[in-house]
Formats: sequence, C-alpha cells, structure tokens
Amino acid sequence: MQVAEFRERLRALGAKPVHEERMLRAWLQAMPLDSGSRRQAAENFLPLAIREALPELNSQLAGLARVVSEHPGSDGTRLLVELADGQTVESVLLPRDGVCISTQIGCAVGCTFCMTGRDGLLRQVGSAEMLAQVVLARQRRPLRRVVFMGMGEPSHNLDNVLEAIDLLGTAGGFGHKNLVFSTVGDPRVFERLPGQRVVPALALSLHTTDGELRTRLLPKAPRMAPEELVELAEIYARRTGYPIQYQWTLLAGVNDSIEEMDGIVRLLAGKYAIMNLIPYNTTAALDFRRPSNARVTELAHYLHARGVRTTVRQSAGQDVDGGCGQLRARTARQLRRSPSGAAVSAPGSVE
Ligand code: SF4
Repeated sequence: MQVAEFRERLRALGAKPVHEERMLRAWLQAMPLDSGSRRQAAENFLPLAIREALPELNSQLAGLARVVSEHPGSDGTRLLVELADGQTVESVLLPRDGVCISTQIGCAVGCTFCMTGRDGLLRQVGSAEMLAQVVLARQRRPLRRVVFMGMGEPSHNLDNVLEAIDLLGTAGGFGHKNLVFSTVGDPRVFERLPGQRVVPALALSLHTTDGELRTRLLPKAPRMAPEELVELAEIYARRTGYPIQYQWTLLAGVNDSIEEMDGIVRLLAGKYAIMNLIPYNTTAALDFRRPSNARVTELAHYLHARGVRTTVRQSAGQDVDGGCGQLRARTARQLRRSPSGAAVSAPGSVE
C-alpha cells in the first residue's frame, strides 16, 4: 500500500491536512493514532468521523506488516516481516539505534553473491509498507537511523522510497543524514536525490574497481564505470556534507586482492568517503567464500595506511541466519517442505 491511499481514506472521512499530518506523525512515532498534544486532547482536534473510524484505521495500518519471527544475534536482530498479501521481507534491528528495511520483494540487479537477487524482482514494496517496517522496529526499541539496505535496489522503486524518506525526515522526526539510501549506482539517484526536501545520506555498493568484474558480479546494475560512480558520489557528498559509505562485500579469491585494494586507494584516497569492508557470509547455496579474519584485518590496515577511511562491518544478524535474503529463503524452504507449505505465498526461495 502507498501512503497516498491512507491519506485518501482520511480525506474521505473529512480530515484536513493538519489532521493527516498529526496522525501520520503519531503512526511513525509508534504512538496511538489519536494521540493528542500537550495542549489539545484528540477529541478536541480530530473530526468525529475519524475518531469513530479509529479501530478500522488502526487495523488497516497494523495489517500492512507484521513480524513473523525474530532472530537475535550479536550484531543485530533479524526480523522476518509478512506483508498483507503474504509476501515476506527482512528488516534488521541494527546496533546503535538503527533499522535496515527492505524496498522490494526480490531484486532485478541479480548480484551473483546475493540470495535476494536470485529470483529477480517479485514486486515493489509500497511506501506505507516501508514505513510500517520502521514502525515495527520503533515498537521494539528507540530508533535514530533508517538504512534502505535490505532486500531490493531502492533506485528501482525510487518514487516510493523517496516518499518514505520524505515522511521519515519530516513527520518521522529522523535527522536527514540518518536516513541512508543504499544503491548499486544509478544515474536517477544522482539526478533526483539532491533536489529532495529530505536529502538522505548515500551508501554505494562498489564491490570491485574492475569494470568487467563488476558487470559479472552485478549483472543487471546500470553500466557505469567505477570511476564515474565515484565521481558522481563525490559531488553528492560535497553537496550534502555527508560522506559516502562505500560497501564492499569481500569475497575470497574474487575481490580481496592487493590489486583491488590499490584500485580502491586510486579511487578513494582523499575523497569524502568511508569504505565499509563486509566479509561475505558463506551460505551453502552459493559458491562464494568468506576471507579469513586475518586477511580482512590485513586489507583494512592496508587501506587505512594509504589514506582510505576503512571500517570492517558484519552483515547484521549473520551469526543468526546469514545475510540479506537468506532468512526469507530459508523460511520459505522450510514452509514449502512442511505439510502446510502450500498455503504460504513466498515464491522467492531458492534451493
Ligand atoms: S545485493 Fe542488493 S542490489 Fe544486489 S541483488 Fe541483492 S538486494 Fe539486489
């Protein structure tokens, strides 16, 4: 569902813009829809038709997304979230008051190391469904940061993602730099994001500085050379004042060579950027391997010593159930194997 549909419902009940905004704010803060303000109780503010429709409105919003299962781990808690049509997405409660949410069911980019990308795009996640993932997280803990880095490529669902970002940065009360748009790089991102009312920070999945290898690893990403991506990203970083978070999934024997590190230094030394090395989380379903911890540390030191700010990140919740898409895939497999599997609408699984 889109936020526009909810707004229309409110308008049909006689809501003015000021009522819409207050109710959206209450929802996004995980508070009751009829929360009054310090000076004004709801019955003195909301039209009677809306107050009478509150049970229905509450159930409409609650029905957008529900948590099917929670999987706590040392580096985050992975939530399997079911949407109204039975499709599932993953959200992750991150350390330091963050949540990572999904923007698509499946993904058309088809990264060869990612479970989500294996089945292509199944459907877009609506703006209200993205916000509902944030609300579910906020019902569990305080939140300061929302990262659009779960299942899906946000630039392939750009209007919905931008609407969600706009609401989070206004009614949701999030600092704009604490909203992080994660992308493989798409010209539309650099064209549209800077002109928004709420301009998010940018995370760019680079993974390699070798254009040909990148085409093989990210087969359906827009054809943009790593140099061009970094150039556009640097302009964005200087304009917004937020450093670019580069993402680099470390795959043993694929992109963990010293030549690749030298490529990173060539592109990023002196840039307003942070390189996040993310050791791949090995899964039986794919052939890629995770480099040893010693190798990861060596590479991080190598970059740091050459002027690239570098962090080593874990794929959140990986000690629980793998990286993005693996929990959903595993759950769908289990459900399909169970006698009741036929009733489950989760075709995006892999064997
Ligand atoms: S890594 Fe991200 S962009 Fe690539 S297929 Fe997976 S979800 Fe899509």
